[in-house]
Amino acid sequence: MATLTRLANLSVGEVRGLGGKRTETLSKAGIRTVADLLHHVPHRYIDRTQHAWIETVPLGEEVTVIGKVVKANLRRLRKKLTILDVYISDGSGSIKAVFFNQAFRARQLTEGTQVAFSGVVTIRNRERQFNSPAVDVLDAASEPMVTGRVVPIHSSVGNISPAMMRSAVHNAVSRARPIEDPIPPELVRRHKLIDRDRAFANIHFPEEKKDVKPARTRLVYDELFRLELALAIKQKQYREESSGIAHQLSGGLVETFIGGLPYSLTGDQSKALEAIEKDLREAVPMHRLLQGEVGSGKTVVAVAAMLSVIEGGYQTAVMAPTEVLAGQHFLSIVDLLSAAGMSPEIRGLGSDMGMDTLFGGEGPAIHVGLLTGSTALVNYRSSVNRAQLLEDVASGQVDLLIGTHALIQEGVNFKALGAAVVDEQHRFGVSQRVKLKAKAGMDDPDLLIMTATPIPRTMSMTMYGDLEVTIIEEMPPGRSPTFTEHLSKAEEEAAWALIRREVAEGRQAFVVCPLVEESAKIEAASATAEFERISRVLPDLRVGLIHGQMKSTDKEEAMSAFRDGLIDVLVATTVIEVGIDVPNATVMVIEDADRFGLSQLHQLRGRVGRGLHPGHCLLLADAITEDGEQRLLAMVATNDGFELANTDLRLRGQGTVFGTKQSGLTDLKLANVVDDEKILIKARRDAFDLIKKDPDLEDHPELAEEIRAMLGERAEWLFLS
Ligand code: ADP
Ligand code: MG
Repeated sequence: MATLTRLANLSVGEVRGLGGKRTETLSKAGIRTVADLLHHVPHRYIDRTQHAWIETVPLGEEVTVIGKVVKANLRRLRKKLTILDVYISDGSGSIKAVFFNQAFRARQLTEGTQVAFSGVVTIRNRERQFNSPAVDVLDAASEPMVTGRVVPIHSSVGNISPAMMRSAVHNAVSRARPIEDPIPPELVRRHKLIDRDRAFANIHFPEEKKDVKPARTRLVYDELFRLELALAIKQKQYREESSGIAHQLSGGLVETFIGGLPYSLTGDQSKALEAIEKDLREAVPMHRLLQGEVGSGKTVVAVAAMLSVIEGGYQTAVMAPTEVLAGQHFLSIVDLLSAAGMSPEIRGLGSDMGMDTLFGGEGPAIHVGLLTGSTALVNYRSSVNRAQLLEDVASGQVDLLIGTHALIQEGVNFKALGAAVVDEQHRFGVSQRVKLKAKAGMDDPDLLIMTATPIPRTMSMTMYGDLEVTIIEEMPPGRSPTFTEHLSKAEEEAAWALIRREVAEGRQAFVVCPLVEESAKIEAASATAEFERISRVLPDLRVGLIHGQMKSTDKEEAMSAFRDGLIDVLVATTVIEVGIDVPNATVMVIEDADRFGLSQLHQLRGRVGRGLHPGHCLLLADAITEDGEQRLLAMVATNDGFELANTDLRLRGQGTVFGTKQSGLTDLKLANVVDDEKILIKARRDAFDLIKKDPDLEDHPELAEEIRAMLGERAEWLFLS
């Protein structure tokens, strides 16, 4: 009997037909072991038991026909439009397939090529045709193996054809079987999973098409179960090694704060605060993700939580992704505290001010500090004395320190940091947590991560073992919707007209410049050029500019001028993507919008519609790629960030969304966290239950071995980091 562990230690070069150069080709594609090969599953199955003859092919339903190419004709209609007509024949008759903008197929579908078309046949101009069907080129050499049955199509790898892959997988599967199964049998029974051995056989070479789904379900479950077990073990170890703070929450300060706010919390905000307070009381360090659309009121919740920590005698910190945002958080937190009747006192101000209090409120004093590279506090016409501030942090005189994510890297030492809030960095990982602990004093501070990036729940479940997620769905009352429209570049005048109308009503607008990938310098230059152009297009309006290459004091200056209404139109690069909060801005124009990612577009759109007046988001683009077009369509179709995140996952593939190995997602070969959500939830529950009963998998040694073997070097960070 073969175990997956054994197969994961067996080079793919051992498989007949895959030696020499091919081993190298496969390795580049991440297929190094026989176990990897067994997870290279077919992307399609062609049912040749139910042979559809071209002559009698049914209309309007998904079918596959097989034949030889008899004629192919490529036409170029316009610069950006090609049409390829291909006729195939199977002896019973011939049928046409039409491909738009797939000129490369002219080279693939040459006369005599044996091919399968899968798709729907319709009638056009009295002729039956496929419209851009799925294409599989069949290899005549492998014919004997594939007639009269369900033919799996394994995608080619480099120059190894689908037929060669199929026959190699066939060798590997027959040599490997029977394949052993270390998953606890009661779980297999409970979820009515089929046998693992049969699952491998059926996913690669099913007798009937309906055998595929249960096979896939089984293998996906196994894969997710392994990942979640690793995460559960890591969580347990992290908890054992960490020494968190069991905060004593008396609640008085939080009550004063909430009672002092000019509004009451939404239901979701209250629930989020309760969950956070429960974590704070426990000795295990909190690791919670607070998710919610921009403006859903996360900051208010975070401030309330920090106040309860401060009341217990600990310090708190807020970390933002950029200096501009750190500055903005500082302003809004100070405002929030004063609005709620407290007395924020700003620490670390130069002695020329002769005081460090700017607000003489009656309420309890909260000592706040802002630590950024530039120490200017534009709005207070003052500057921070950095050395003084660091001293105040170290001596415990700062209750709430705001800075960038670099806060944990600089020479900052707290007397006793009790909790940290991280804004917009959902990848705040284990190593950062270790650094944070080093800055904190003795114990592990509680960690709250805030993000407006809608991360599908299933995805956060596979990111970190101990990450808890709270979602604020409900928006505070009185928000206006944002209307999104797609304009071609030729129609841009409509965008400027809208800006003029809104500005005439006293509102403001953003214009986001085209994305420049070459370098930040070129991006700055092109933003400057765009600023000059827009200034000419809108000569009667006050136009400002902000981009990433500006000095942070200049950025601050531009932002506060915009906030104060001294600028009507702010031309910007994506530096304004996160967190910028100017409720009076109602228009967001995004140039070359098709080149931005969906989550980026959604974030940008979130900058408007934050006040009483409805927002307008105009996407200026002549999309040149299919994906670009799809993104624009999705943006126009919905305002729902979670829906967009799922669309994004589908368009881009899950591995690339966070672009990080740490997500654990890059390890997934079969599972798809959008479509396999139900299986993931089961696998996660099972894994965490099992680790509760058998913490080190001592009673399940084969399973432990399999996890290490299958997760490879990645198991290192899962287990150890
Ligand atoms: P986020 O951090 O999620 O972007 P904020 O906490 O900054 O959101 O809140 C956005 C704005 O909405 C702020 O001006 C805040 O004062 C206001 N706000 C927050 N919660 C409520 C609420 N429950 N009712 C009315 N306004 C609220
Ligand atoms: Mg915010």
